Amino acid sequence: MSSSSFPVEKRQLHTPDLSHVAQVIESGLKENFKEASVNVVDCPDLTSSPWQLAAPGLGGAPRLLDVGGVPYLMPLIQREKVYDLAQVASLAGLPNGFILGAGAGSYRVAGVNCEMMANIKFSDPDSGAPHNIGSYSAKVSTEDGSAIIEKFPYTEAGPLANLLLCEGTPGAPVLEIKARKRVGEENFVTCMRKSLAAYFGEGPVGLGGVFMIKKGKAKLHIMPDFSQTPLTTNEGVNKWLQFYNMSSPLTCLSVFISCDPGLDLRVEHTHCFSSHGDGGHYHYDVTPQEVEYHGYYVIAEEIVRIDRPIKTHQIGRD
Ligand SMILES: [Zn+2]
Repeated sequence: MSSSSFPVEKRQLHTPDLSHVAQVIESGLKENFKEASVNVVDCPDLTSSPWQLAAPGLGGAPRLLDVGGVPYLMPLIQREKVYDLAQVASLAGLPNGFILGAGAGSYRVAGVNCEMMANIKFSDPDSGAPHNIGSYSAKVSTEDGSAIIEKFPYTEAGPLANLLLCEGTPGAPVLEIKARKRVGEENFVTCMRKSLAAYFGEGPVGLGGVFMIKKGKAKLHIMPDFSQTPLTTNEGVNKWLQFYNMSSPLTCLSVFISCDPGLDLRVEHTHCFSSHGDGGHYHYDVTPQEVEYHGYYVIAEEIVRIDRPIKTHQIGRD
């Protein structure tokens, strides 16, 4: 399937002042964490350790992308659903932009279905220069079920991806978000998303960025290879997925939107990587007493929906 045949839909998002969003998220986090603070700051250099992003900042026309979807992965994989993220960035209007976020890696380049932590600054298409790719993949070992976290030096994604796309310019104002000691039931991301949904109602507010889990452990999953039997229930999906309690520090690439403006979105999606062999799809921390989060997010101006599945369902979106 050529990229030109992908349907592309766009919606403007609600873009309140950063300081207003900061207040709303801080009060939401304080209901779920013993300590939390959200401030508007100039983005630090995110190419530095521990952030390890492929671009220095989150500035420049930030937008969220929701590409493909879970309905292409299950009940059974539709193998023709792979996406070149360079083409995706072009379709979304920033061909030399910076992409970060969570998706499936392409089985065609990885050899097997896998998790992808997308982290790519694209070069100008006319320049011929190589893209700066800092992406990782997570696979399940077929020998012992252990996690295999590797660099993923490709731009091809599998059947779904949830991404932030921006110019990657340094120093732009961002939200600096800190939280520690979880006292409520919500995970870090869901807590922020629900606080925005409760305050802004049907005006969708979308955020993308990066956070560290600095202390404690988190429950993550990794997809094994495609299921040979149809996955038709969440129970079936959870039997197919491999779950792990993984150790900090984890660098987490994260996008979420407070509500779905009728585009059949996955409303939050976060994938993590590390240099110590841990990584995957974030569910929640399992060490509420110890856990400490620290991150930077921007507010997206629009959402771009690429190749939305016509035949859809709500299975497997956790
Ligand atoms: Zn995921």
